[in-house]
Amino acid sequence: MTENFEDTIAAISTAMAPSGIGIVRISGEDALAIADRVYTGKKEKRLTDQEQYTIHYGFISDHGEKIDEALVMVMRAPHSYTGENTVEIDCHGGVLATRRVLEAVIHAGARPAEPGEFTKRAFLNGRIDLSQAEAVMDIISAKNDYALRSAQQQLSGSISDKIEEIRQSLLYETAHIEAALDDPEHMSLDGYGPQLRRIVVQQREEIHKLLESADSGKLIQEGIKTVILGKPNAGKSSLLNLLLGEERAIVTDIAGTTRDVLEEQINIRGITLRILDTAGIRNASDKIEQIGVTRAIDQAKDADLILYVVDRSVPLDQNDYEIMKLIRNKKSIIILNKSDLSSEVTEEMMREELAKYGEDLSEPVILNLSAKEKLGLEDLEKQIEKMFFNGKIEFNDQIYVTNVRHKKALEDAEGSLNYVMKSIDDQMPEDFWSIDLMGAIDALGRITGESLGEDLVNEIFAKFCMGK
Ligand code: GDP
Repeated sequence: MTENFEDTIAAISTAMAPSGIGIVRISGEDALAIADRVYTGKKEKRLTDQEQYTIHYGFISDHGEKIDEALVMVMRAPHSYTGENTVEIDCHGGVLATRRVLEAVIHAGARPAEPGEFTKRAFLNGRIDLSQAEAVMDIISAKNDYALRSAQQQLSGSISDKIEEIRQSLLYETAHIEAALDDPEHMSLDGYGPQLRRIVVQQREEIHKLLESADSGKLIQEGIKTVILGKPNAGKSSLLNLLLGEERAIVTDIAGTTRDVLEEQINIRGITLRILDTAGIRNASDKIEQIGVTRAIDQAKDADLILYVVDRSVPLDQNDYEIMKLIRNKKSIIILNKSDLSSEVTEEMMREELAKYGEDLSEPVILNLSAKEKLGLEDLEKQIEKMFFNGKIEFNDQIYVTNVRHKKALEDAEGSLNYVMKSIDDQMPEDFWSIDLMGAIDALGRITGESLGEDLVNEIFAKFCMGK
């Protein structure tokens, strides 16, 4: 528990922008009493005397000065998001009005909340575990439908349940070993090694499955880092515009200026492509020296996907060969652009050329497209889906690990279980088994927050946004 846990906190929970309504949230022991000091209802009835889950119309005042009219919601502990007494004030969404209401609430005795403090209290009050608290943040920052669904699954406890299942199984075995070591006269561990080994293999497999989902999970949540490569005039910016959709392109043309956008996000089939250095792409055709290749080399290095645009209406040249070298070990899609024009470069020619640059390129993904005529976009989308998610993202019962912190904990748990197996195989004493089993249990507990120090918990919540 934090030292100020007894405080009643308040914050603006909506975005600070002109909008229909703004919400000021108050949570803590004195939430209703504090709200009563700023709220005046029609019938002069105090909020403290109102029923659970009721909404009231009235005015908010600060030191006797009327600030705004508002709807006020009453939620009593433990039946609220934080598990504490909570009042939500819906006022007008003007930046100033909302801020004045918050100030009034602070004057009346609440303390400004820290970022994430409402959710932190929900966690400390046992309403949700840590992975669920993190899911709340993931929902708020979801960039696409899949990220949202995955975060919602996590909030509903999908990861917690799975982790708890594995943890319980390991706890049971650890307790068994400890009990036997304590009372060797009545409990024997003879022949237990192979039995434990089977269980450890099984649970390690479960952990491994979760870890395997992490790559897709990361892509779902963060998007696919994409770089478009190609020589000048190949059609890179035309492709970018096609992907972005027509309207954006028109806007760009009118502006006619350098856009200093470094990254553009595109949602296709629920997947987010993060296209890097779009300003560079747009400028490249003006400046021959920025042949796109030199500029993009750095980014291509840590890209998840390279879209290599080939102008199929002209022969390949040195720029193309440079790019082929560059994409050797990368997930790439080779786009033969300008399919509306007669073709100097065919798929077979590309295949032959690429094969010269390494085995990885022996089965390249090549497709024809016309950025100008808008032909072939669907093929491209399908290819991306196939490349990263084997065709479709399955959401029936697949759990995706999207959080780097969870991934690290799972890796540690897997490592500990490997040690357990080694100890069994090497016929080490039984207490070696239980030490590493406990290591795994501890690592898994870090995901749900069970075995995590206060400092780390604070650090996690500090990354949350204000008012949540
Ligand atoms: P970048 O230098 O790679 O960004 O290439 P641009 O996108 O600026 O395109 C260069 C030129 O090729 C422009 O005149 C485009 O209109 C043209 N272009 C791009 N894609 C196509 C296409 O699919 N077909 C045809 N016929 N022209 C295209």
